[in-house]
Amino acid sequence: MDSITLARSLQDKDTSRSALRAIELAKARVPVEDLAAKHTELRRSGSSLRGKCPVHGGDNPTAFVVAPEEGKFYCHACGEGGDVVSLYARLEGHDNMKTAAAFLLLEFGFEPPQRPQAWFEKDRRQKPVRDALEEARIEHLAGRIYRKFFEALVMSVDEDQRAGELRERWRDAEQMARMMWASRRGGET
Ligand SMILES: [Zn+2]
Repeated sequence: MDSITLARSLQDKDTSRSALRAIELAKARVPVEDLAAKHTELRRSGSSLRGKCPVHGGDNPTAFVVAPEEGKFYCHACGEGGDVVSLYARLEGHDNMKTAAAFLLLEFGFEPPQRPQAWFEKDRRQKPVRDALEEARIEHLAGRIYRKFFEALVMSVDEDQRAGELRERWRDAEQMARMMWASRRGGET
């Protein structure tokens, strides 16, 4: 993404529109076969690819079919099917497609169209999180998110700027953890 597009998207306050954009962007940027190949060994079979299903974890080496041209997957054993975002959501346990799309983009080295904070701010107004145990779990989740998505980035920054980068990225991780927590709680208030 060029910096003008990014800057414009950061100013966009329309959450649902940018959520939709995150999903569309993830589908356009991340090939479903690349994501699938991270979780199962795929073999070419005509225009599609086949392997063991990473969703239900079966042993049949041809049950899971990926169609790169259509950007879709389907499992003949468990019946799961969809696109790259729904596959990621299924594998990583996200209920919320916009969250899944944002994480998927990050995992493949792309910026989501809007920083996740704005989504979190909305969640926070709707569902205050006060419980101390919940806070501890969120911190734990933030640690995992930080290590998975941000640690390598922080370590690659020049040493004199690393502390500032770390503070900012840790804040991102913490807010993403809160957002994930809120989306996993589903409709609870
Ligand atoms: Zn399956």
